[in-house]
Amino acid sequence: MSSRRIFLHQASLSALAMTIPSLPNFAEAMSSRNDQEGVLRVAIMGLGSYGTRVAQAMESSKRAKVVGVISGTPSKVENWKKKYGIPDKNCYNYENFDAIKDNPDIDAVYVITPNALHKEQSIRVAKAGKHVICEKPMAINAAEAKEMVTACEEAGVKLLIGYRLHFEANTLKVVNMRKAGDFGDIKFFQGLSGFMIGDPTQWRLDPALSGGGAMMDIGIYSINGARYMVGEEPIWVTAQEVKTDPVKFKEGIDETITFQLGFPSGVVASCLSTYSQNNLDKFFLNGTKGFAEMQPSTGYGPIKGRTHQGALDEPHIMHQTVQMDQMAGIILDGAEPPIPVDGREGLKDMVIIDAIFEAVKTGGKVAISV
Ligand code: NAD
Repeated sequence: MSSRRIFLHQASLSALAMTIPSLPNFAEAMSSRNDQEGVLRVAIMGLGSYGTRVAQAMESSKRAKVVGVISGTPSKVENWKKKYGIPDKNCYNYENFDAIKDNPDIDAVYVITPNALHKEQSIRVAKAGKHVICEKPMAINAAEAKEMVTACEEAGVKLLIGYRLHFEANTLKVVNMRKAGDFGDIKFFQGLSGFMIGDPTQWRLDPALSGGGAMMDIGIYSINGARYMVGEEPIWVTAQEVKTDPVKFKEGIDETITFQLGFPSGVVASCLSTYSQNNLDKFFLNGTKGFAEMQPSTGYGPIKGRTHQGALDEPHIMHQTVQMDQMAGIILDGAEPPIPVDGREGLKDMVIIDAIFEAVKTGGKVAISV
């Protein structure tokens, strides 16, 4: 390179350095933006495996950015600070995060901790005046879920549940076909959800932190899926439990539950939730004129399947990226999601889970009203 070209090259590099802020400066600039500029500034609570995935997905979100963290592990906070350019003032722990109420640079907190912690943490976030995005299951029973809905309504903040499939393109294609009558009268739904769970010491197998086993974790996908696929709310449930390993799946942790949901029109949903079968992730919807089958139907994607009209082949975009873009629209612009994701929607699933557990216990048919 000639000395002139080297000079021009260096000059343009230093001009670039002046105009493109370094990552920490960018995050600070972002965190000082206000709502009107259309970016939802999110603090992630719980920097575990799903929290990490959500943050990665938000790197490509146009409307939501990670600007803060709430964690009990200082080493993780240090890593996240570096990775996302998060300033010290936006870092909290589980003891002091109520102080987030005095932080104008955070709009919403995404609660991604073990299930049994969601209620208390979400209510504290609401009381701090911040919008709440909470992972599924939103709580460990309907009574808790109701408290969360009330607390958020009283605080005047939004409560959204991390139902990423409510924004997924192939799922929406099937739901739209059903709404258009393409399947005729819906008659039957099947939802199968399962994987073989490993480490017996993890929180998912501790009832005090999980509130239940496979049902809370993945059975909820078939419950929620049955509702948006069928387009009705169930009125009764029956359920049966099978436990082959009572040491690993102790009292309060369901290993396998089969359950049936009955809908007002006469549609029946037949579902399976299990921690002891691998790669089980299938939805099947049948009507008088056609069908949809999706496998995988609830994993991180690509979601695949077909209907009587052909393949389900909508382009795959990371679910959590789409979810966070859409949730920014719901929170900042008052947009309506294609399938509800609010606290009342989450509460319906919790009512059904309570009824499933009751049906397992009594062996009878339990009436539901959601
Ligand atoms: P994880 O174990 O990987 O992470 C949990 C995080 O919570 C960890 O960072 C942990 O340090 C923190 N934590 C705070 N207090 C804790 C305590 N008292 N005990 C244990 N951990 C504590 O779990 P995960 O897979 O990230 O799941 C977190 C939540 O996200 C769950 O509610 C789960 O159902 C949900 N989730 C949702 C999806 C989805 O696709 N929507 C996928 C996975 C998990």
